[in-house]
Amino acid sequence: MDGQPTLFSRIIAGEIPADIIYRDDDCIAFRDIQAQAPVHLLIVPVEPIPSIANIEPSHEQMLGHLFVVAARLGEEFGVARSGYRLIINHGDDAGQTVPHLHLHLIGGRPLGALVGVAPPAPH
Ligand code: 5GP
Repeated sequence: MDGQPTLFSRIIAGEIPADIIYRDDDCIAFRDIQAQAPVHLLIVPVEPIPSIANIEPSHEQMLGHLFVVAARLGEEFGVARSGYRLIINHGDDAGQTVPHLHLHLIGGRPLGALVGVAPPAPH
């Protein structure tokens, strides 16, 4: 971490507005600004862990908590019965754009294939 607050840290700090729907000491959840489905929430740890690759054993409890919050929000937003997908992107090939770990909770419509068809890009 280079000391620069991430976009999501700035949302957590209230410096950038967001449609915040849940927060506690360890995480925050808000609507994605470019929703891909009727329900598209981001569940973000307060600790600015850049990505899955930076997870350490000390994060285990907090990471479990993110899933507990996700399950609760799935119920609250009415998609627990119809279904939803949790996505964590890591790195360029997955399309991670914000280097602050986050779960996408996406639902409210059929989501199709797990992996979209994209033109092959050389490495
Ligand atoms: P990633 O691509 O890193 O997995 O996901 C980042 C997500 O953050 C994207 O879905 C993008 O639409 C969302 N996002 C980017 N900037 C903002 C913002 O300023 N506010 C909110 N609410 N979402 C944002």
